[in-house]
Amino acid sequence: MIPEVDQDRLVQEIEALAQISDAQAPAVTRIVFTPTDLKARAWLIARCEEAGLVVRQDSIGNIFARWTGSDAHAPAVGTGSHIDAIPNAGRFDGVVGVLGGLEAIRSLGRSGLRPKHSIELLVFTSEEPTRFGIGCLGSRLLSGSLSPDAAGILADKDGASLEEVRKKAGFQGELEEVKLPRGYYKAFVEMHIEQGPLLERQRVPLGIVTRIAAPAGLRIAVEGAGGHAGGVLMPDRRDALCAAAELILAIENVAKTSGAIDTVATVGTCEVFPGAVNSIPSRVHLSVDIRDTSLERRDAVLRSIQAARQAIAAKRQVAIEETLLNADAPAECAAEIIEALSDSCAKHKQPFILMVSRAYHDSLFISRIAPVAMLFIPCRNGYSHRPDEFAAPEDIARGVTILAETLAGLAG
Ligand SMILES: [Zn+2]
Repeated sequence: MIPEVDQDRLVQEIEALAQISDAQAPAVTRIVFTPTDLKARAWLIARCEEAGLVVRQDSIGNIFARWTGSDAHAPAVGTGSHIDAIPNAGRFDGVVGVLGGLEAIRSLGRSGLRPKHSIELLVFTSEEPTRFGIGCLGSRLLSGSLSPDAAGILADKDGASLEEVRKKAGFQGELEEVKLPRGYYKAFVEMHIEQGPLLERQRVPLGIVTRIAAPAGLRIAVEGAGGHAGGVLMPDRRDALCAAAELILAIENVAKTSGAIDTVATVGTCEVFPGAVNSIPSRVHLSVDIRDTSLERRDAVLRSIQAARQAIAAKRQVAIEETLLNADAPAECAAEIIEALSDSCAKHKQPFILMVSRAYHDSLFISRIAPVAMLFIPCRNGYSHRPDEFAAPEDIARGVTILAETLAGLAG
């Protein structure tokens, strides 16, 4: 059996999905449970049904599209990714794993394969943290990494709770029903653009992921004292933005001096109140993102940030509060799936490298309930989360071929 990938159709589908967006092309914006997201979901479900897959959605909106195997009760082999996109993003992040996964299944069907295990496409809800401040909502709930109670009270910036928002979007059941039973998946393989430059730099078309770095997220609130920019003299000031600036540089320094290149820390947002040119900033909110391949080192970074926060607060007479949004363990990919992917590459004479995923993905959480691995394809200049994100059609098609071959092997 040699899966023949329909590259033209796949490219057309990626184009069609990119049109369902809240941003001006070529940018894509698709925030979870907005009318645009719901339209994209409906479009995708229609494609899955056209392909003869049996579709169901759970109460957080994860979409399962199943090609039932000859042993319908055996654990399924899963593949998939996400279709939500941060503001002003590109068209490939997540989407190549979803539409590529769908094309992999279709190509296997065309090749005449009749798998023993069902093969299931899984489209995760809200991989991006844009709306509710926490990434991988769908896979956290599927794997029991986030409790339904904690999820339900998450709120968006307008104060609407996840519970209200999802029900309004048509997802009525209880969040308790989302968690998958152990053994639901025999294996799970996610294809994704690399979102980094290594494959392109090394001129290798494929990367097999052996480990996914551990992310942590913090929200920091700095509370100082406001006042008139002319009236309050410098010795009397407790400027929240100046304190935040010191903290931002301290966070950068902590990451730079961790002793490992794998440590990264980013302050990605900074909101200043009241935000007027002639008013001393009284309050600042920062969001901090930390990643590392070592859990010990990542946790040491968190402790160092805490120490810096306390020192700066004391020195500048401001209050600095920190909320830990998430601190997840890294994932080890499963040896048997890494091997299945390597065998598929060998069979198709495709070179690959083994690599670490520094971005997190839904597979990080699925690894807690099933053996997982990921397949990376190159993206131009390593760009992602921006409108000029680009993956070449032949690179996507090559990834789909290897994915299809691997799914076929795992599904028996
Ligand atoms: Zn992604």
